[in-house]
Amino acid sequence: MQAINTRNYQKVICGQQVESKCRLCSQHEETVDHIVSGCEVLAKTEYISRHNNAAAYLHCSICKDHDIEITDKWYEHEPETVIHNKDNNITIMWDMPVNTDRTITANRPDIIVKDSVNSTCKLIDMTVPSDRNIALKETEKKCKYKDLELEIQRMWHMKTVVIPVVVDALGTVKKGMVENIKKVSERANMAEIQKICMLGSARILRKVLSV
Ligand SMILES: [Zn+2]
Repeated sequence: MQAINTRNYQKVICGQQVESKCRLCSQHEETVDHIVSGCEVLAKTEYISRHNNAAAYLHCSICKDHDIEITDKWYEHEPETVIHNKDNNITIMWDMPVNTDRTITANRPDIIVKDSVNSTCKLIDMTVPSDRNIALKETEKKCKYKDLELEIQRMWHMKTVVIPVVVDALGTVKKGMVENIKKVSERANMAEIQKICMLGSARILRKVLSV
């Protein structure tokens, strides 16, 4: 993966007299790491769509767990903002802010699963960071949504948990992430999520390096 023809590779490894800064942002060295997870030009478009693909896979798995009819193919699955299944009283929210009595800035995790029969609520948030800070991300997410967790517990009277799902851009996962995925959905498969992230990154690399 590292022997990809980035500008930094051409200059540092091949000793060519070339500009080694990123061809998109001109701010940082153009390395694989930078292109797949560190470039601010790509952050608002490419990284978001890679993230959304992985999160949509989770959403799809959760829907199936709760007998909500959706397409069989997760990559054709466009999550609805709110889905409610009357039979089992499950509500699934996608990228939707929660109205709270007091102001909470982090009020929009990727997915919320509200189970009114068992009085439980899951706040699920997916991140694809660069591999350098993968260890920090899980703790960061738990802190980020702590206020929302407590507020939902108070407002809805539900036992609430924050479940971060962290997979780096090249598919590496931290220990414990498989357990987190199982908490999100019994049928969700870690390898599938890794594949979605890696394919997304490969697409980004191809696109950038052909510019
Ligand atoms: Zn850049």
